[in-house]
Parts: sequence; structure tokens; C-alpha cells
Amino acid sequence: MPHPARITAVETFVVSLPRDVPYLGPLGPGESINERGYFVRRGNRTIYPSTDMSVIVKVTAADGTVGWGETYGIVAPHAVTAIIDDVLGPVIVGRDPRDVVVIQEDLYDLMRVRGFGGGYYVDAIAGVDIALWDLCGKLAGLPLAKLLGGQRMDRIPAYVSGLPRAQLDERVALARDWVARGFDAIKYAAAVSHQGIVAEMRALREALGPDIKLMVDLHWKFTAAEAIQLIGELAPYRPYFAEAPCAPEDVEGLAQVAARTGVPIAAGEEWRTIYEALPRLERRSVSVLQPEMGHTGVTQFLAIGRLAVAFHARVMPHASIGVGIFQAASLHAAATLPNVPYHEYQHSIFDKNLRYVTTTMRCEAGFYHLPDGPGLGVEPKPELWNFVVKR
Ligand code: MG
Repeated sequence: MPHPARITAVETFVVSLPRDVPYLGPLGPGESINERGYFVRRGNRTIYPSTDMSVIVKVTAADGTVGWGETYGIVAPHAVTAIIDDVLGPVIVGRDPRDVVVIQEDLYDLMRVRGFGGGYYVDAIAGVDIALWDLCGKLAGLPLAKLLGGQRMDRIPAYVSGLPRAQLDERVALARDWVARGFDAIKYAAAVSHQGIVAEMRALREALGPDIKLMVDLHWKFTAAEAIQLIGELAPYRPYFAEAPCAPEDVEGLAQVAARTGVPIAAGEEWRTIYEALPRLERRSVSVLQPEMGHTGVTQFLAIGRLAVAFHARVMPHASIGVGIFQAASLHAAATLPNVPYHEYQHSIFDKNLRYVTTTMRCEAGFYHLPDGPGLGVEPKPELWNFVVKR
């Protein structure tokens, strides 16, 4: 009989959950769904699935305790499951999950000298890492935030992300609805600002008044010079932050934007490790970091969060597409940090997909409430497995 804490099995599942309206709103001119279920947003030249796709990781210990993880499955999710099934899972079977940080480092080391320090490989590590942390919490009988060193908040302010309606007047009306429901911070997406990015912020500011925080996601669309000009035009409407103004690779451009505008710059949803965060922080390119739990896992999320503390930057975590498992991990980890004024709230995904899990986690009246229970506090319901996609 192996020690009760030893890992005996690592399994993966891809789920594809239907949605009524595509992510970011109805399809625009020239946008259509291809035979694999994907479409390309012309506004930011980025591919999206027409369903909510996610990768679920199940790690079982010798005593039968199960830890759940989730990682980014937005496109080609079977690339991630292949890495876990073929490489990561077999390597960690037999190990003690309570060595979770050491295991995360060991898995990163397996491929680092071959240049796999990001992308699908690190997403796969993130899914395993989250499952191991859930398992550790259950073995210890502690909620993850307590296990991570202390819980500063039992609820976290949530900002509303995205106004998925076709026309500007409909988006303004939707924003008013969210304010009426107790939310005080709203972000819109430039990729679908078909009536103009500045016009949208002006309309939102005029409709919502001076006290609501407004943010814009610029979706990596601009050169540094263009972004400086655009953010200058947005500045009179007092954005709380401007997100991702420049291409992900343009470290120097982002630094120029940050230095030459008076608006806080946010970035980081596409980063996976401290090695991507550090050069941006050193150049003061960002004052708001947006780690995405589905890319980082708990271990790197906290490393990035602590790095942000050292640079006196804020953390406002990104919330991606999933069934709530990595969302719960993100809330637990964020609740331990001293520099988190808000967490993103992807209402069109979070609320809809909570039906597939058992949890007390919820987002209402402007706040996320952390789930109860040991570990993450989220368990898949049996009906989730009706949506598993075989390769
Ligand atoms: Mg974004």
C-alpha cells in the first residue's frame, strides 16, 4: 500500500460547453464559424472557439482523495492533454503532492533547455499545479488561501469585463444594468468597439457618471505612438487603466506608453512565468499585472504576484474561459496578496458555467465570494462529463 499522499493517477478531459452568443458578442461583418468550431475576430485578428472549451485535470492520491485542476483550452485543447498524458502525468505518479512547488519546478525543468518556457507546455504544467494544490488543501483539510499563507479577503471586488452587445447604445444599457446590480467598475473591449474606442468611453462616462471606474482592453492593436495618441484622447474620461495597448512582444513600446501617458497601463494575461513579468516590471511598462491562472497555475501566479509587490504594482487577475476550477484557484491566490483591488469578472462565462460544478463560489453585487471547503472548493457535477470531447 503506497503512502496515502502519493499520486496514483493523473487524468485529463477536454470539455466543450455550448454558449448562445459568441465570446465578446455577436459575430461581426466577415466573421464566420469554421468546420472546427472556431472563428477569427477581425478587430484583433485573434481566433476564438464558438463554445467554451476547457481542459480539466484530475489527480488522484493513494487514499482516493481527488484534486481538480483546469487550464487554458481555448484552442487546440488536445495539445495540452497530450502533454499531460504523455509527459507530465507519468513523471509525477508516485510523488507526494505536498511537494507541489518542487514538482512545478521539476516539470518546468524537463523541457526548459529546449525552449519550452511558455505556450502549451506551461499551460499543461499550470493545470497539474492547480490540481496538486487542490489535493494538498483536501489532504490538509484547509481552504487553499489558508494553505498559501493567509487569507486577506473573503470577498474580492469584481470588475465587469465585456459588454457583449452589437450596438453602442445596447452596450451602454448593459453597463447601466451592471451598475444597478452593485458593480462599480466596467471594462469594454476595443476589438468590438465598432462605433469607436473613444466614443465608447465617452458614452459610458456620460451615462454612468463620475464615480464608476472605466477600463478599456485595447487587445494589443496599436504601435506605441498610436497608443500614446489614443490613450491621450481617452484620458479626459479618466480610465482606471488601459489594457494591452501594444503587441505582446513590444516590451520597449509598452514602456514608452507607460512613461508618456498619465493612465495606468495593464498587461500580462498572456504571460506564464516570472521571466515574462520581470523585464516589463523592470522597465516600469505596467502598473497593473493581470496574471491568468489557466496559464500560470497557482505557483507561478503567486510568484508573479509577489514580484508585482516588489515593484509597487497592482494585480488584477485575468479571468478566462472555464468551468470555475481555475477561477476558484485565482480567487484563493488573489485573496492572499496585498495588492489586489479587483479581480476580472467574465460574467458571460462564469455565471453560465457554474451550473456544471458544485461550489459556494459566486459573484454578486460587486464582489466575488470565495468558495467554502478544503482545497479549491469546486467539484465537477456528473453532467459536466456529458460535454467531454474525444480527440
Ligand atoms: Mg484582455
